[in-house]
Amino acid sequence: MGIAQGILDSAVTAATEADAKRINVVSVSIGHLTEVMEDALHFAWQAVSGGTLAEGAGLEVTMLAASSKCALCGHEWEHGRYDGAQCPVCGGYIVSLLRGPGLKIDSIDID
Ligand SMILES: [Zn+2]
Repeated sequence: MGIAQGILDSAVTAATEADAKRINVVSVSIGHLTEVMEDALHFAWQAVSGGTLAEGAGLEVTMLAASSKCALCGHEWEHGRYDGAQCPVCGGYIVSLLRGPGLKIDSIDID
């Protein structure tokens, strides 16, 4: 519920500043390593958006794969939650996370 509330607060603030009458669609990108289930997020969105400018608004979710870079050979690759610890090219274990958890609002469609 916390993530949905955060998205709602940001969207409503932006829409209010833009003098919008209603919010139609909110698009967000979420890193795969974020502790959130997309289905649960949609459910929570319905629950928190009722009675606000975003009532009935759609929530478009783009899940972004995590990516890491190998310190030995420089290879960069995308991966899921559990397979980012070892470089798939050279087998090295010295890797750094380039993109992991996180949430970003990409766009808000308003009237
Ligand atoms: Zn490597």
